[in-house]
Amino acid sequence: MFLLFGFRPVVKKIGVTKKYRCTRCSNVSCWEVYESRNWFTLFFIPLIPMKPEYFERCSVCGGYNQLSREEAERCRTIV
Ligand SMILES: [Zn+2]
Repeated sequence: MFLLFGFRPVVKKIGVTKKYRCTRCSNVSCWEVYESRNWFTLFFIPLIPMKPEYFERCSVCGGYNQLSREEAERCRTIV
């Protein structure tokens, strides 16, 4: 008998920020806020969610910044 297990990342958009200037590309735009969560999988079936991470992504250049959970929840617009 063998077990096939692993981790599968799931990233979903949860909202947008107010407009502000990107330090990387200098454009002013809204930033998209994402939740990234790894799932423990068994035979490719996601079973156990791991701790989520949050980040915001510049919609112009794709640069991103890590966010705390509180910062991300303030920007949550998609349930
Ligand atoms: Zn940018």
